[in-house]
Amino acid sequence: MTKKIAVLPGDGIGQEIVAEAVKVIERLKTAYGLDVELEQGLVGGTAYDETGSPLPQETLQLAKDSDAILLGAVGGYKWESLDIAVRPEKGLLGLRAELALFANLRPAILYPQLADASTLKPEVVSGLDIMIVRELTGGIYFGQPRGVRTLDNGEREGYNTLVYRESEISRIAKVAFDIASKRDNRVCSVDKANVLECTELWREVVTKEAQGFSHIELSHMYVDNAAMQLVREPKQFDVMVTTNMFGDILSDCAAMLTGSIGMLPSASLDINSKGMYEPIHGSAPDIAGQNVANPLATILSVAMMLRYSLNDADNATRIEAAVNKVLDNGLRTQDIYSDGMKKVSTSEMGDAVIAAL
Ligand code: NAD
Repeated sequence: MTKKIAVLPGDGIGQEIVAEAVKVIERLKTAYGLDVELEQGLVGGTAYDETGSPLPQETLQLAKDSDAILLGAVGGYKWESLDIAVRPEKGLLGLRAELALFANLRPAILYPQLADASTLKPEVVSGLDIMIVRELTGGIYFGQPRGVRTLDNGEREGYNTLVYRESEISRIAKVAFDIASKRDNRVCSVDKANVLECTELWREVVTKEAQGFSHIELSHMYVDNAAMQLVREPKQFDVMVTTNMFGDILSDCAAMLTGSIGMLPSASLDINSKGMYEPIHGSAPDIAGQNVANPLATILSVAMMLRYSLNDADNATRIEAAVNKVLDNGLRTQDIYSDGMKKVSTSEMGDAVIAAL
């Protein structure tokens, strides 16, 4: 059956990079029979300019009616002084909340061809391929009560609440085990069970959920050690699963191991593996409209979409192999350029991926 993809380019370079990803999807349709239909929608500042809302009802409905969503990026200087309720970023947060996208998948992959881009030694990071599964709609970022109160002695006190229900933990653990099943069957659950009761429960529930996945090798690690190990020996990890806040911090750390913001895709999934796919970077207003942005993170987001929401590993692998090939051929956008390589524009990079397909 034909699957529907909502295409939301958003703002800034979002327009340019999504155009290249769409070209790749069209190529897979004609060359490999990919059975999808695309429908474009407005989100972010562009949507605000046209409709007065960063997430128009029409876009939300389109996202709800689709099997997957491809998003570029939102935001830009032009909208920075708007009221916070209608800022472009509200469009993105609104989509995540309305669609209950509780599982955030952020791979940190270092293409061997780009090993020099990392601040770590090439032998430590070359071939790095980690998947961080971060719980996205619970934990301390959402827990109640929260706020700043004034004590009897007049001193102010800030407080937040770390809270996870068993059902929230088991559903994110299950996502991690499912993903590891498509990779190297290893999951490291990251917590602070030695200090925080909430993550003691986390460890207990993750361990129990693992009983249904006998092929998975589950390990546990305290978050402070995990941060250290990510920098010391990152290649020891396959899939890491963790809470909202720990995942926020560790996934940024892991992304930087690869040194190239223009290369990394991400996915946010709901309970049925419907997902929103986007590059981890923003709308890069400093280079928007110049045809110099790297479209590979967005193109690789399409590969993730095929693998995780559309169950089409063959076409996902085709995209990843094509990206590898253009890197092997020495093609580089300016963000990953180094001496001796061939500098290409956004659209030339997209064309090269299509040729490699
Ligand atoms: P950014 O990721 O947009 O840019 C950071 C730096 O990386 C810039 O120098 C930019 O030119 C460069 N860069 C980013 N993507 C690139 C690419 N594909 N190719 C080449 N270079 C690239 O982050 P920022 O500057 O902090 O934020 C800019 C705007 O994006 C803000 O409005 C912010 O709110 C928004 N933002 C949106 C998202 C999202 O839509 N998911 C995420 C982060 C930031």
